[in-house]
Amino acid sequence: MNVYDSERMADVLRPLGYGMADGPEDADFVILNTCHIREKAAEKVYSELGRLKEIKLARTGAGGAGMTIAVAGCVAQAEGEELMRRAPVVDLVVGPQAYHQLPELIARTARSRGERLAADFAPEAKFDALPKARAVSGCTAFLTVQEGCDKFCTFCVVPYTRGAEYSRPAAAVIAEAESLASQGVREVTLLGQNVNAYAGGQGWTLAILVRRLGEIPGLDRIRYTTSHPRDMGDDLIAAHGEVEALMPYLHLPVQAGSDRVLKAMNRAHTAESYLRLVERIRAARPDIALSGDLIVGFPGESDADFEATLDLVREVGYAACFSFKYSRRPGTPAAAMGRQVDEAVKTERLARLNAILDEQRHGFDRDTVGKTLPVLFEKTGRNPGQLIGKTPYLQAVWVEGPVSLIGAIAPVHIGGTGPNSLSGSLTGSPAAAPSSEAA
Ligand code: SAH
Ligand code: SF4
Repeated sequence: MNVYDSERMADVLRPLGYGMADGPEDADFVILNTCHIREKAAEKVYSELGRLKEIKLARTGAGGAGMTIAVAGCVAQAEGEELMRRAPVVDLVVGPQAYHQLPELIARTARSRGERLAADFAPEAKFDALPKARAVSGCTAFLTVQEGCDKFCTFCVVPYTRGAEYSRPAAAVIAEAESLASQGVREVTLLGQNVNAYAGGQGWTLAILVRRLGEIPGLDRIRYTTSHPRDMGDDLIAAHGEVEALMPYLHLPVQAGSDRVLKAMNRAHTAESYLRLVERIRAARPDIALSGDLIVGFPGESDADFEATLDLVREVGYAACFSFKYSRRPGTPAAAMGRQVDEAVKTERLARLNAILDEQRHGFDRDTVGKTLPVLFEKTGRNPGQLIGKTPYLQAVWVEGPVSLIGAIAPVHIGGTGPNSLSGSLTGSPAAAPSSEAA
């Protein structure tokens, strides 16, 4: 979502004459778009600011025009005041629901440092104010359809940094998707902190939205992320079996495999209910690639609880999965819980979990060897003549092929697996690209 937000900030600033710089050294204005989900992400902001401070000083010292530094995103939202205090190099902070007001903030900062616009949650006002036109390059794009969270998992800052659940009206989403398709976008990933809780008014659910977007000419691939198991409706499960454009890949975080831990996390599902849900999804779309998020070392997690997570992972069989050490976030209920788990224990559990997840991912990749899969080519590879694309299962694949295939979907015979990607060879001619697409 930060990638989407960054692109939209560029859209907001373009009418003021701003364009993309190659790097901070050439920039008059630098925005750090930040993440607050784990301590490590939040701390990174300060090390980045240290680096930017050097660049800013070098520019000013050399009689340059100076540089304005803004911090955006969830760290700005949660720690705006502390940021301004700890890092005098920062000129302004702006939260994730207020960045449409950047032009006004920049003008005010020119008069006095320390402008801060973070506290109000008004996603509706933001989306209404953002320019309708998006300038995109490339054949894939993100599209935010839902923001915020009302679920309050006890470990998580999102409900505090992004605010309450909000869904954009379906008409606005459809218009944005049509505009993307007209610019050559062939794959759109619908975004939301709880994207499957989407409720776009007048009965619009994510399933209905996906079906409608699947009718847009040129938009051949639809993905969505991130989903909560609780909001996985029957209509959405059915769509996975019926909508051709909906890719067979689903990110469905479970977090843990022990019911005791899931309850303490306030997840509102059990290991068993998650497994039954997975069964129903696989019944609708047998080849679906499943992904998820897992946390190790939640307060009070015993060896037996952790073993339950491993059991669940073995039972599901993930194609790809993200795993995290529990990070104690200020202001969340879990941060105040007793029996915090030792860092060394977390490290050891994460390593054991990752060994299984890596094995599952490689197993999933190996199973695609010998198959012919449609690949959407996104860019050139590291070596001359190489193209990189994605399979329907979100695996990266490289082939030898002409640059003209970028933006096209072509059948690829998968020949082998590497640590992070597959290799393959082109087997036939690409599916026709839409006429609106640039060559
Ligand atoms: N809404 C999504 C998740 C959004 S946050 C969902 O409920 O599934 C992305 C992931 O970050 C979470 O799934 C969780 O695994 C991880 N995460 C969130 N807070 C965390 C914390 N305090 N420590 C470690 N991981 C965390
Ligand atoms: Fe965080 Fe997701 Fe839980 Fe919401 S549902 S509190 S975003 S982990």
